[in-house]
This record gives sequence, structure tokens and C-alpha cells, in this order.
Amino acid sequence: MQSYKVLVVEPSNVYQLVIQQVLEEHECNSLFVRTGKEAKDLVEYSTFDLVCVAMELRDMSGVELCQQIRAIEGYTQTIPIVMITTNEDNSTLENALRAGANEIFHKNSLTKFSSFLTQQAFNKVFEPQVTGKILYLEDSPSQSALVTASLEAQGHQVTHFARGDNALTSFAQNDYDLVLTDIFLEGSLTGLDVVQTIRCDEANKSIPILAISATGDSQQKLELLRNGANDYVAKPIIQEEVIMRVLNLLTTKKLLDELEKQRKHFKEVAMKDQLTGLFNRHFLMEVGPKSINEAHRHQHALSMLVVDLDKFKIINDTKGHATGDTVLESIGSTLLNSCRDEDIACRFGGEEFVLVLPHCNLNDAQLKAEALRKLIEQSKPAGLVVTASIGVSSLFLEESTDDIASLFSRADAGTYQAKANGRNQVVVIIENPVSK
Ligand code: GH3
Ligand code: MG
Ligand code: MG
Ligand code: MG
Repeated sequence: MQSYKVLVVEPSNVYQLVIQQVLEEHECNSLFVRTGKEAKDLVEYSTFDLVCVAMELRDMSGVELCQQIRAIEGYTQTIPIVMITTNEDNSTLENALRAGANEIFHKNSLTKFSSFLTQQAFNKVFEPQVTGKILYLEDSPSQSALVTASLEAQGHQVTHFARGDNALTSFAQNDYDLVLTDIFLEGSLTGLDVVQTIRCDEANKSIPILAISATGDSQQKLELLRNGANDYVAKPIIQEEVIMRVLNLLTTKKLLDELEKQRKHFKEVAMKDQLTGLFNRHFLMEVGPKSINEAHRHQHALSMLVVDLDKFKIINDTKGHATGDTVLESIGSTLLNSCRDEDIACRFGGEEFVLVLPHCNLNDAQLKAEALRKLIEQSKPAGLVVTASIGVSSLFLEESTDDIASLFSRADAGTYQAKANGRNQVVVIIENPVSK
């Protein structure tokens, strides 16, 4: 039998061992983490059969974690969550159930947890099937009644149309998981027209289409497949066959959707800084030069700000690293909120940020830097006065060799001077890179 994948969120080493022992008896494949945040990321981008949560975690309560898992779109809304706790306070236990926990087990008597695992493993054999929202086109009332009933009995949601034009309108307004279409329909559009129209739009490339063809007409079947149907059933329809083909297509679509979600996530992780949500240095080095080439080519202004927080080390040393992180997060959103869509706001390293501002000349960049400096000083993240030294440079449009490195080195020199002059100020470097 397939092994059961369990995520355990438990801050204590001792209880991790105790729970691990029970899980090993059931040959579960288990993963242990200590914080709610780690757990949330894992369930969102991977799949588990069960999540075990302690009542108290380092960064949130077990109840909060339950709520957050249930709030994520997808399988996480139905995944079994059990709380494993020493807490016997009824109102806390009730809150846990309200937040979406399925069962609560006491840490000191895990035999009930063990029987629960036996039961779960048994249930997995009868896993609930994938269901979806189906757009169904069929002009025959008797046929459509039969097929609709048998698909609905499988848990699918079926919306039926007899005409292609009505179905296409509904398709454009709703989020369907699958299209099931007959060839001959009421009105002027055929099933083949419907398939072609849907596939014309790049955005619909992943929606599965199951076509219903006339018996033995292999030319028609080929035509349907060529135009973008994924599969077909021939008339007279065998209900079981429609059900199985629909299920196969929906299952594949679900897997592909999950892959796509993971791909997006990893892409974002690769270009974004996790703490602030700003772009990272790697992204700046990849996209910054393109932005600069554009500016040279079209001879439009482009400026850069290097923002370095003042005496930041003192915040870490006196208030702790976690407060330091909160300050960085907050300064990150201040920077992001004062940027335009085309700007690149990036966390370059520790407490140093770089902004690339296309269509912004030296004068405007200086004004912008000064406004940012004030904004940072007034923002008081975590109740602390935080200031920044900002260096400003602009691209020399008449020097085609002026690139991201020289632009950065001028802005960085500005920051350096601002520090030397007493910090919390803006210094603009106007020196021409090749004239010196
Ligand atoms: P200056 O005004 O000269 O810039 O002084 P500073 O203390 O800001 O500069 P310094 O470069 O000496 O120290 C930067 C500090 O930033 C040291 C490091 O511990 C802290 N830091 C770097 N990355 C992070 C981070 O991700 N989180 C936290 N909390 N602190 C960080
Ligand atoms: Mg028909
Ligand atoms: Mg600093
Ligand atoms: Mg620094």
C-alpha cells in the first residue's frame, strides 16, 4: 500500500520523538517542523495526507495554523488535521474544532491517535474522486438528462446547453474545469466550432475537452482531435465510459494545475527576497541591464537610488534580530509603495536597498530620494526611529558605456558620502563617469 504522508508541527523535541514512534508503527512517511509558517508553506506547495498540530507553536497558536491552512485554496480545505495537545481546557479544544481541526488527541495517551491512523489508512484506499465544474453541450433532451444525472451522481457540477453560442457565453463568464460537447447542436454552431473557438484563445489551452462523436466516423474523430479535443466518446454513449474519461481528464488537469502553481511559486522564490517581498539582487542583475539598455536606446532618463539604513546594527543589538527583521519588512513596503510599476525595487543585501527608476531624471530622482528619506524617518517601524542615507545617480545618456555597474558605483559613493556627512541625508553624484 502507498505510504501515508504526514506533516507534524511540533516545537518540542521530546514530543516529536513520541509522535514519530507512533507514526513509524504505521509506516507513515513523516516530516517534522516547528513553526506554523513552515507548515503553511509546506502544505500549500506539497501534498500531505494528514497534518498533526501542537496547540502551541513558536510563531502562532495551533488554532491559528488550522484556520490558515483551511483558508488556502485547494486540497488543504479538506485535508485531515489533528491537534495533539496536553491542553484540556474545553473552550480551547472547541476553538480548535471550530478552526477546522478534525480530531484532538491527548499527548499522554496516543493509543487513540494510533487507531485513528489505522482508520485513515483504510479511508485512503477509498479516496474521494476528483470532481469538477462541467460545461455540457447536447441538443437531445433525453440524452442530456441521462448524462447530466450520471455525472452529477459522481459529484460533478454540470451546466447544460443545447446551443453552442449560449454555451460559449457561459464559458467566457465562468470557470469551468472541463467541456463535454456533442457534435450536432441546436443553432448554427456545431460541437467542432465550439472546440475551435475555445482553443483559439491561448488562455484556454489547458481546459480539457471531451467530444462526443458519431459512431464509426473516424474522419470526424480525427477532425475533433486535430482541433483541440483531448478525447472523445462515440455514440451510442456508454455512461460508464463518459464517467471514466471525464475523471481521467479532470485528474490530469488537477495535477497540471498543481504543477503550474508550484512552478509559479519557485519562479517567485528565485527572484524575490523572502523577508520583504522586494526583488532580490539576482533579479536586479538580470533585469536592471535590460532597463538600462532600453533607456540608452530610446534616450530616456533613468536613475538609481541606493538606500542604506543608518546604524541598523544597533537595532539588532539592542532590540533583537526579530525586531530588526520587522523593521526591514516595513521599510521594504514603504519603498514598494512609493514605486511605480516600471520601477525595480530590490533588497540588495542586509539593510541596503536599490531602486532603479526609468523615466526619472537626476532632478526628479533627488526629489524622490528626499521624499523617501522623510517617509522612512516618519514611518517608525516597530516604534523605532529609523533613518536612511541615500545615494543618487543618473544614467549618462551620451555615454553608451555607462552601465549598471557604473551607475551603481556612483549611487553607492553617494551613500558613502551621506554616511560621512552625518547620515540621514541624500547625496547626488553628478560626476560624468568617463570625464574623470
Ligand atoms: P551604517 O549607518 O554605517 O550603515 O551602520 P549599520 O549598522 O547600518 O551598518 P553595518 O553594515 O555595520 O550593519 C548592518 C547590519 O545589518 C548588520 C547585520 O547584522 C544587519 N542585517 C543584515 N541582514 C539582516 C537581516 O536579514 N535581518 C536583520 N535583522 N538584520 C540584518
Ligand atoms: Mg446532438
Ligand atoms: Mg547601514
Ligand atoms: Mg549596509
